[in-house]
Amino acid sequence: MKPAPFEYHRPGSLDEATALLAELGDEAKVLAGGQSLVPMLSLRLAYFDHVVDISRLTELRGVTAADGYLRVGAGTTETAVGADLDVARAVPLLTRATPLIGHFQIRNRGTLGGSVAHADPAGEYPVVALTLDAEIEAVSAAGGHRVIPAADFFTGLWSTALEPDELLVGVRFPVWGARSGFAVEEFARRSGDFAVAGA
Ligand SMILES: Cc1cc2nc3c(=O)[nH]c(=O)nc-3n(C[C@H](O)[C@H](O)[C@H](O)COP(=O)(O)OP(=O)(O)OC[C@H]3O[C@@H](n4cnc5c(N)ncnc54)[C@H](O)[C@@H]3O)c2cc1C
Repeated sequence: MKPAPFEYHRPGSLDEATALLAELGDEAKVLAGGQSLVPMLSLRLAYFDHVVDISRLTELRGVTAADGYLRVGAGTTETAVGADLDVARAVPLLTRATPLIGHFQIRNRGTLGGSVAHADPAGEYPVVALTLDAEIEAVSAAGGHRVIPAADFFTGLWSTALEPDELLVGVRFPVWGARSGFAVEEFARRSGDFAVAGA
Protein backbone atom coordinates (compact mmCIF):
# COMPACT_ATOMS: atom_id res chain seq x y z
CA MET A 1 0.00 0.00 0.00
CA LYS A 2 0.99 3.62 -0.40
CA PRO A 3 0.62 6.35 2.21
CA ALA A 4 -2.31 8.76 2.03
CA PRO A 5 -1.24 12.05 0.38
CA PHE A 6 0.65 14.50 2.58
CA GLU A 7 2.61 17.70 2.12
CA TYR A 8 6.35 17.14 2.49
CA HIS A 9 8.53 19.77 4.22
CA ARG A 10 12.32 19.69 4.51
CA PRO A 11 13.50 22.46 6.86
CA GLY A 12 17.12 23.53 6.52
CA SER A 13 17.72 24.33 10.19
CA LEU A 14 16.48 23.50 13.67
CA ASP A 15 14.81 26.92 13.97
CA GLU A 16 12.99 26.35 10.68
CA ALA A 17 11.87 22.90 11.84
CA THR A 18 10.45 24.14 15.17
CA ALA A 19 8.76 27.10 13.42
CA LEU A 20 7.06 24.66 11.03
CA LEU A 21 5.92 22.44 13.90
CA ALA A 22 4.54 25.50 15.72
CA GLU A 23 2.63 26.52 12.61
CA LEU A 24 1.29 23.07 11.67
CA GLY A 25 0.54 21.71 15.17
CA ASP A 26 -0.86 18.18 15.38
CA GLU A 27 -1.50 18.05 11.62
CA ALA A 28 2.23 17.45 11.19
CA LYS A 29 4.49 14.52 11.99
CA VAL A 30 8.27 14.56 12.22
CA LEU A 31 10.16 12.20 9.90
CA ALA A 32 13.66 11.15 11.03
CA GLY A 33 14.98 7.80 9.73
CA GLY A 34 11.50 6.76 8.65
CA GLN A 35 11.98 3.19 9.86
CA SER A 36 8.88 3.27 12.04
CA LEU A 37 6.91 6.18 10.57
CA VAL A 38 7.04 5.15 6.91
CA PRO A 39 5.66 1.63 7.52
CA MET A 40 2.89 3.15 9.65
CA LEU A 41 2.01 5.64 6.88
CA SER A 42 2.26 2.99 4.17
CA LEU A 43 0.01 0.58 6.05
CA ARG A 44 -2.32 3.53 6.69
CA LEU A 45 -2.15 3.00 10.41
CA ALA A 46 -1.51 6.75 10.65
CA TYR A 47 -2.49 9.78 8.54
CA PHE A 48 -0.90 13.22 8.63
CA ASP A 49 -1.47 16.19 6.35
CA HIS A 50 2.15 17.31 6.74
CA VAL A 51 5.43 15.46 7.18
CA VAL A 52 8.44 17.44 8.42
CA ASP A 53 11.67 15.71 7.39
CA ILE A 54 14.50 16.44 9.85
CA SER A 55 16.88 13.78 8.50
CA ARG A 56 19.27 16.32 6.94
CA LEU A 57 19.64 18.55 10.00
CA THR A 58 23.33 17.98 10.75
CA GLU A 59 23.02 19.99 13.99
CA LEU A 60 20.99 17.09 15.42
CA ARG A 61 23.79 14.56 14.90
CA GLY A 62 26.76 13.58 17.03
CA VAL A 63 27.95 12.55 20.47
CA THR A 64 29.33 15.01 23.01
CA ALA A 65 30.69 14.50 26.51
CA ALA A 66 29.60 16.89 29.26
CA ASP A 67 29.98 16.93 33.03
CA GLY A 68 28.66 13.57 34.24
CA TYR A 69 26.81 12.58 31.09
CA LEU A 70 27.16 11.77 27.42
CA ARG A 71 24.80 13.54 25.05
CA VAL A 72 23.66 11.82 21.87
CA GLY A 73 22.03 14.08 19.27
CA ALA A 74 18.56 12.93 18.22
CA GLY A 75 19.56 12.60 14.56
CA THR A 76 22.50 10.29 15.25
CA THR A 77 21.85 7.01 13.45
CA GLU A 78 21.71 3.77 15.38
CA THR A 79 24.73 2.57 13.37
CA ALA A 80 26.73 5.66 14.43
CA VAL A 81 25.74 5.16 18.07
CA GLY A 82 26.83 1.50 17.92
CA ALA A 83 30.22 2.42 16.41
CA ASP A 84 31.04 5.38 18.65
CA LEU A 85 34.02 4.76 20.95
CA ASP A 86 32.99 7.43 23.48
CA VAL A 87 29.60 5.75 23.78
CA ALA A 88 31.31 2.37 24.24
CA ARG A 89 33.51 3.75 27.03
CA ALA A 90 30.93 5.89 28.85
CA VAL A 91 27.57 4.19 28.19
CA PRO A 92 28.42 0.55 27.37
CA LEU A 93 24.81 -0.61 27.70
CA LEU A 94 23.88 1.57 24.71
CA THR A 95 26.62 -0.04 22.61
CA ARG A 96 25.59 -3.54 23.62
CA ALA A 97 21.89 -2.91 22.94
CA THR A 98 22.41 -1.42 19.45
CA PRO A 99 23.11 -4.62 17.44
CA LEU A 100 19.84 -6.04 18.78
CA ILE A 101 17.86 -3.40 16.85
CA GLY A 102 16.48 -4.87 13.61
CA HIS A 103 19.02 -5.34 10.81
CA PHE A 104 21.93 -3.15 9.71
CA GLN A 105 19.87 -1.57 6.91
CA ILE A 106 17.40 -0.34 9.55
CA ARG A 107 20.16 0.88 11.88
CA ASN A 108 21.80 2.79 9.00
CA ARG A 109 18.66 4.96 8.67
CA GLY A 110 16.99 4.76 12.07
CA THR A 111 17.96 7.38 14.64
CA LEU A 112 18.31 7.36 18.40
CA GLY A 113 15.87 10.26 18.68
CA GLY A 114 13.34 8.52 16.44
CA SER A 115 13.52 5.35 18.48
CA VAL A 116 13.08 7.22 21.78
CA ALA A 117 10.27 9.43 20.41
CA HIS A 118 8.51 6.39 18.95
CA ALA A 119 8.47 4.85 22.47
CA ASP A 120 7.90 1.27 21.42
CA PRO A 121 8.00 -0.76 24.64
CA ALA A 122 9.82 -3.53 22.73
CA GLY A 123 12.45 -1.05 21.46
CA GLU A 124 15.95 -1.21 22.90
CA TYR A 125 16.75 2.50 23.28
CA PRO A 126 13.64 3.42 25.31
CA VAL A 127 14.54 0.63 27.74
CA VAL A 128 18.17 1.75 27.95
CA ALA A 129 17.07 5.35 28.55
CA LEU A 130 14.79 4.25 31.39
CA THR A 131 17.34 1.88 32.90
CA LEU A 132 20.11 4.48 33.01
CA ASP A 133 17.90 7.41 34.16
CA ALA A 134 18.60 9.32 30.96
CA GLU A 135 17.20 12.79 30.29
CA ILE A 136 15.47 13.81 27.09
CA GLU A 137 16.00 17.28 25.62
CA ALA A 138 13.07 18.84 23.77
CA VAL A 139 12.87 22.15 21.91
CA SER A 140 9.91 24.15 20.63
CA ALA A 141 9.46 27.62 19.15
CA ALA A 142 7.08 28.66 21.95
CA GLY A 143 8.56 26.86 24.95
CA GLY A 144 12.27 26.92 24.21
CA HIS A 145 14.41 24.12 25.63
CA ARG A 146 13.32 21.67 28.32
CA VAL A 147 14.84 18.55 29.85
CA ILE A 148 12.56 15.62 30.75
CA PRO A 149 13.67 12.65 32.90
CA ALA A 150 13.09 9.36 31.04
CA ALA A 151 10.76 8.18 33.83
CA ASP A 152 8.42 11.11 33.02
CA PHE A 153 9.00 11.09 29.26
CA PHE A 154 7.46 7.67 28.50
CA THR A 155 3.77 7.93 29.33
CA GLY A 156 2.51 4.63 27.87
CA LEU A 157 2.58 2.43 24.77
CA TRP A 158 3.98 4.55 21.91
CA SER A 159 3.21 7.71 23.86
CA THR A 160 5.47 10.33 25.36
CA ALA A 161 5.41 13.70 27.10
CA LEU A 162 6.49 15.44 23.86
CA GLU A 163 4.05 18.13 22.66
CA PRO A 164 3.11 18.16 18.93
CA ASP A 165 5.20 21.31 18.40
CA GLU A 166 8.25 19.89 20.19
CA LEU A 167 11.29 18.32 18.64
CA LEU A 168 13.40 15.84 20.53
CA VAL A 169 16.93 17.17 20.03
CA GLY A 170 19.09 14.93 22.19
CA VAL A 171 19.32 12.40 24.99
CA ARG A 172 21.68 12.74 27.96
CA PHE A 173 22.91 9.43 29.31
CA PRO A 174 24.49 9.63 32.78
CA VAL A 175 27.98 8.15 32.97
CA TRP A 176 27.74 5.59 35.72
CA GLY A 177 30.65 4.94 38.10
CA ALA A 178 33.49 2.54 37.49
CA ARG A 179 32.00 -0.13 39.78
CA SER A 180 28.80 -0.43 37.69
CA GLY A 181 28.06 -3.43 35.49
CA PHE A 182 25.63 -3.87 32.62
CA ALA A 183 24.15 -6.72 30.62
CA VAL A 184 21.38 -7.03 28.06
CA GLU A 185 19.67 -10.24 26.96
CA GLU A 186 16.77 -10.74 24.59
CA PHE A 187 14.68 -13.52 23.17
CA ALA A 188 13.35 -13.11 19.60
CA ARG A 189 12.03 -15.83 17.30
CA ARG A 190 14.28 -14.69 14.44
CA SER A 191 17.46 -12.63 14.44
CA GLY A 192 16.56 -8.96 13.82
CA ASP A 193 12.98 -9.24 15.06
CA PHE A 194 11.67 -7.17 17.94
CA ALA A 195 12.27 -8.97 21.23
CA VAL A 196 9.51 -11.18 22.58
CA ALA A 197 11.12 -10.65 25.97
CA GLY A 198 14.17 -8.73 27.09
CA ALA A 199 16.05 -7.86 30.27
C1 LIG B 1 11.84 -4.46 10.03
C2 LIG B 1 12.09 -3.55 11.20
C3 LIG B 1 12.61 -4.08 12.37
C4 LIG B 1 12.85 -3.25 13.46
N1 LIG B 1 13.35 -3.81 14.60
C5 LIG B 1 13.56 -3.04 15.68
C6 LIG B 1 14.05 -3.60 16.90
O1 LIG B 1 14.33 -4.80 17.00
N2 LIG B 1 14.22 -2.75 17.95
C7 LIG B 1 13.95 -1.41 17.88
O2 LIG B 1 14.11 -0.69 18.86
N3 LIG B 1 13.50 -0.85 16.74
C8 LIG B 1 13.29 -1.64 15.65
N4 LIG B 1 12.82 -1.06 14.51
C9 LIG B 1 12.52 0.39 14.50
C10 LIG B 1 13.79 1.22 14.25
O3 LIG B 1 14.66 1.17 15.36
C11 LIG B 1 13.42 2.69 14.01
O4 LIG B 1 14.51 3.26 13.39
C12 LIG B 1 13.10 3.55 15.21
O5 LIG B 1 12.09 3.00 16.00
C13 LIG B 1 12.59 4.92 14.78
O6 LIG B 1 13.64 5.70 14.38
P1 LIG B 1 13.55 6.56 13.04
O7 LIG B 1 14.67 7.53 13.07
O8 LIG B 1 13.45 5.64 11.88
O9 LIG B 1 12.19 7.37 13.28
P2 LIG B 1 10.93 7.62 12.35
O10 LIG B 1 10.37 6.34 11.85
O11 LIG B 1 11.24 8.66 11.34
O12 LIG B 1 9.94 8.25 13.44
C14 LIG B 1 9.39 7.44 14.47
C15 LIG B 1 8.48 8.30 15.35
O13 LIG B 1 9.25 9.21 16.12
C16 LIG B 1 8.91 10.58 15.79
N5 LIG B 1 10.19 11.31 15.77
C17 LIG B 1 11.32 10.91 15.14
N6 LIG B 1 12.33 11.75 15.44
C18 LIG B 1 11.81 12.71 16.24
C19 LIG B 1 12.35 13.87 16.87
N7 LIG B 1 13.65 14.19 16.75
N8 LIG B 1 11.52 14.63 17.61
C20 LIG B 1 10.21 14.30 17.75
N9 LIG B 1 9.64 13.21 17.20
C21 LIG B 1 10.43 12.43 16.44
C22 LIG B 1 8.21 10.51 14.46
O14 LIG B 1 7.32 11.59 14.29
C23 LIG B 1 7.49 9.17 14.56
O15 LIG B 1 6.32 9.30 15.33
C24 LIG B 1 12.59 -1.86 13.38
C25 LIG B 1 12.11 -1.31 12.19
C26 LIG B 1 11.85 -2.14 11.11
C27 LIG B 1 11.33 -1.54 9.84
